[in-house]
Amino acid sequence: MLSTKDAIKLEDKYGAHNYHPLPVVLAKGDGVYVWDPEGNRYFDFLSAYSAVNQGHCHPHIIGALKKQAETLTLTSRAFYNNVLGEYEQFITNFFGFDKVLPMNTGAEGVETAIKICRKWAYEVKGIPENEAKIIVCNNNFHGRTTTVISFSNDPDASKNFGPYTPGFEKVEYNNLDELEEALKGENIAGFLVEPIQGEAGVMVPDENYLKKAAALCKKHNALFIADEIQTGIARTGSLLAVCGNCTCQGSCERQPDHYVKPDILILGKALSGGVYPVSAVLADNDVMDVIKPGQHGSTFGGNPLAARVAIAALEVVQDEKLSQNARKLGEIFREAMNELKDECELINLVRGKGLLNAVQINDSPDSSTAWNLCVKLKDNGLLAKPTHGNIIRFAPPLVMNEEQLQKCIQIIRKTFLEF
Ligand code: PLP
Repeated sequence: MLSTKDAIKLEDKYGAHNYHPLPVVLAKGDGVYVWDPEGNRYFDFLSAYSAVNQGHCHPHIIGALKKQAETLTLTSRAFYNNVLGEYEQFITNFFGFDKVLPMNTGAEGVETAIKICRKWAYEVKGIPENEAKIIVCNNNFHGRTTTVISFSNDPDASKNFGPYTPGFEKVEYNNLDELEEALKGENIAGFLVEPIQGEAGVMVPDENYLKKAAALCKKHNALFIADEIQTGIARTGSLLAVCGNCTCQGSCERQPDHYVKPDILILGKALSGGVYPVSAVLADNDVMDVIKPGQHGSTFGGNPLAARVAIAALEVVQDEKLSQNARKLGEIFREAMNELKDECELINLVRGKGLLNAVQINDSPDSSTAWNLCVKLKDNGLLAKPTHGNIIRFAPPLVMNEEQLQKCIQIIRKTFLEF
């Protein structure tokens, strides 16, 4: 097996330098743990940006993958396959929508939602062709494709990748007045929003922001599009972050008080438990039926392997009550971090929901303090990564138990207090 040093050397020499990873090489994963080639064990406190909610190599998901891989992997959508329909029925029931459009990556899911929203705007709402606008939020992160980076505020994401796709208007996140002003504008097709802004540093909006934003969209006949690629699938202590305070694990549609149902819901990442790229766009018939044969698709989208993996991944979420666990452990974690904040000047803010949390380091976003802390955390056996310079995101797999969480809290305390 390649050593840590040699694996890093190869990536440096032969791979594009489009990432700046922490200097650790992972060779094995099991549940909440990962190991480097030298056999050192770490707690994973990033979960592949919330894709591994079900833990590394979950046996139920890997079992489904293996069985299907030996049977049929890809047919393309030129033909039907005997798993896709079963998956479509399963996922639409699970989240309470009429239909699903299966894709692979998160960014593809967002692109798909934008296309559906625009088509709905022209064909149902009656906006003049090529005039549709979609409202997005400042400091959004929805992926890396050309259209999606066209409405990013992050110069690293967008600079020198133009010309940009037009048709997007930005408003401040968590500001309903600005949203309503924008919705009153001409030719507004929809509002695309992250229920919690993950990449921006785990920005949690006010309690009723999403509910009120959805109501404003309805009032102005614009589609409310929720990007739950990072927040969805139990991460924030409910099946979806738009579920608010509900842990009913997929029966939200029967409890409308709990649930802000988006017109379009985008899922990815943990939809496969991090086992395979699977994303999905869900909507009811009045929206989804604008897409006709030949107008959108993907060679791999909806393949039988992805379909089996996604069913298994959602079964784990339900069977192991991951929303409830994320909610309970999230409260314990934030309380511990707030206690640490009182003892340690390095922390100036703790925020988050469920097991999507962030600690803001008391230093400028240009400083290397958060990075250096993450290197020390790694040396002490826990892997986390800074986002936006001085913020450390803490997002372990949701299968973590309380005893393991307490060990992680001890590692974080020790690292911060000794820094
Ligand atoms: N949307 C959100 C909210 C995300 O967090 C991400 C990834 O971090 C994406 C979209 C893009 O997903 P992918 O990297 O699978 O394209």
